[in-house]
Amino acid sequence: MQTRNLIGGEWVGALSGAEFDVVDPATDEVIARAPDCGAAETARAIEGAAAAQRAWREVTAGERAAALRAFADLMRRDRDRLGALMTREQGKPLAEARGEIDYAASFLEWSGEEAKRLYGETIPASARDKRILVLRQPVGVACAITPWNFPSAMITRKLGPALACGCAMVVKPAEDTPLSAIALAELGLEAGLPPALFSVVTGDAAKIGGAMLAHPLVRALSFTGSTEVGRVLMRGGSERIVRMSLELGGHAPFIVFEDADVDRAVEAAVANKLRNGGQTCICANRFLVHESVREAFVSGLVREMGEIRVGHGVDEASRVGPLINDAAIEKVERHVRDALEKGATLRCGGERVRPGPGLADRFYAPTVLEGVTGEMLVSREETFGPVAPVRTFTDEDEAVSIANDSEYGLAAYFFTRDASRLMRVAEALEFGVVGANDALPSTAQAPFGGVKQSGLGREGGRHGMDEYTEVKYVSWGL
Ligand code: ADP
Repeated sequence: MQTRNLIGGEWVGALSGAEFDVVDPATDEVIARAPDCGAAETARAIEGAAAAQRAWREVTAGERAAALRAFADLMRRDRDRLGALMTREQGKPLAEARGEIDYAASFLEWSGEEAKRLYGETIPASARDKRILVLRQPVGVACAITPWNFPSAMITRKLGPALACGCAMVVKPAEDTPLSAIALAELGLEAGLPPALFSVVTGDAAKIGGAMLAHPLVRALSFTGSTEVGRVLMRGGSERIVRMSLELGGHAPFIVFEDADVDRAVEAAVANKLRNGGQTCICANRFLVHESVREAFVSGLVREMGEIRVGHGVDEASRVGPLINDAAIEKVERHVRDALEKGATLRCGGERVRPGPGLADRFYAPTVLEGVTGEMLVSREETFGPVAPVRTFTDEDEAVSIANDSEYGLAAYFFTRDASRLMRVAEALEFGVVGANDALPSTAQAPFGGVKQSGLGREGGRHGMDEYTEVKYVSWGL
């Protein structure tokens, strides 16, 4: 299947005619080809977006909301088709892929509704013959660079608020998952969005990203991906002082206190850890468990993880699909090997599995490691796979200090039944998202984002709208 990009309202290939392969990570089959675009196509998309945005910013909030609602409804109408496409290019099980479509649609709908509440302010002036008005205006053309782990939701989480605020957006999806992005562009057109308002450009990341940062019409860039690339983009954006929203890596702790409901913590741990096969930036990477509940927690985790079916995402019974590529599974293996060499104990998993004939060698068994210490790679770096490393602690201060001992600060989780401890620990954790007795915190109305090297800015909720509006005040002499 040959695909095209939507650039400036037209369906086109790369100017050079070049294309790249889109590969199913479960089978290594080439499922499509996508345009290999670069700087020139990106500039065209940006210029089209700027023209469309001049008209879109005049459209009423109610009309913008209606268009976003129609867009979300079309996603829900095509849930099965979009989910199947996502499973093919990304590997996650069908049920999860369909769940992501619902989640992705919710950002369009919620942001559209919030467009109606983009209120300004009046401020008491210091002179009787003055008034101060605060306006919130769209930033203009915003660009987005998105990752492969949530091929649809990481786009709509940026696109929804951008369009709701009266901006236009040019998206560069990850090379691994261009098809979900192209499918979104088709539905945006069907929903009646002005054709050049939302472009999708696939191809060379550095060239497209560089063109986005260099173009004088681009006012904001929103990126989700690694901290390493985030740094490159921030440096590039410093030339023109481009507004940056950065959603970067994480290294989430998951603390189980001695007063936790251990069964509930186990269930939450499995749901969190195995979401997308452990390939999310908010997956628990460090299980910190009070010594007194260690065996209850670990044996529960081993039991539950052992029952998880690893398999091809298109098989409805699969709960964990393949890892995205060979580098990903090699990193998981390196982390597990390093932990075992440094004295950890393997309680389950710890190896690749072959769930069926004809499948790629890229499936990894859900794994539990016990006796983990601070020097191991699993304690320092994101593993991005189905591995649960368990380390113990003996008091609250120790748990919080281990949790905070990271350059990352995206998500943290803890389980306790003590209300005072709940508030104390929630306040002490240096993370942007804290799940207190909750391991699935993501939702369209909440301000998702990290502190430290996990990023800048927030996505979702009212705070997510701030990334796409400029604040202007008018000092009005009467
Ligand atoms: P991951 O580790 O999740 O693959 P990356 O940060 O490598 O994360 O990729 C996230 C997104 O950033 C992808 O769309 C990728 O193509 C893009 N990307 C990678 N390198 C660059 C770059 N130098 N400039 C702009 N975008 C980039």
